[in-house]
Amino acid sequence: MAKNWIYKTPGIPDEAFDQSEAVPGPTKEEIRVITISKARLREGDTVLDVGCGTGGLTVEAALQVGSRGKVYAIDEDEAAARLTSANVEKFGAQSNVIILSGKAPQALLNLPNADAILIGGGGTQLRTILQIAANKLKSNGRIVVNAILLETATTAIAELKSLGFKDIDITNISVAKGKQINSGTMMLARNPITIVSATKL
Ligand code: SAH
Repeated sequence: MAKNWIYKTPGIPDEAFDQSEAVPGPTKEEIRVITISKARLREGDTVLDVGCGTGGLTVEAALQVGSRGKVYAIDEDEAAARLTSANVEKFGAQSNVIILSGKAPQALLNLPNADAILIGGGGTQLRTILQIAANKLKSNGRIVVNAILLETATTAIAELKSLGFKDIDITNISVAKGKQINSGTMMLARNPITIVSATKL
């Protein structure tokens, strides 16, 4: 049963996660909401979170797939794996999350087939990661790449096309949040994120 988040909908506030200066994330609240919706998760699904960072997406995915589902979270950085573990515990999702410290693409080879794969890290290895991810995805499985860099997005688009994915969707999200100042509410822009998602044939 989820602790600290009693709602069905995603969008846990960023400040509800344990955070560390040394580990990126959590993926910002509104970006998490759209990422999870692009993954089209169902109860009982198996999800791979590649580059789990703080565990923001891992926790949101775990709450969506429920106790019959599984989330495999991997990160090459051991501090990220530990922080994800703390956050998974904080939200009471230990029973359906498995956290591995390892580097993609190699670390992906040992993971089971999945209904959805979230890719938040990968850098120069992105093409190979997508090729292995394509093999791990079940038919009609969903892949979602969150890109800070334009180059990450364009590489993902090109590779998903060549791997024969269908319904490739590219969405760029710009969020601005209100901050109270003396004279009223000022909107402060956050970095735009490009979300590339697609369905395996
Ligand atoms: N979605 C996360 C934030 C991800 S930050 C959250 O909500 O908290 C991206 C993470 O990807 C970093 O922690 C980085 O260590 C990891 N990463 C980058 N390349 C990787 C690779 N090749 N294999 C595994 N992890 C990787």
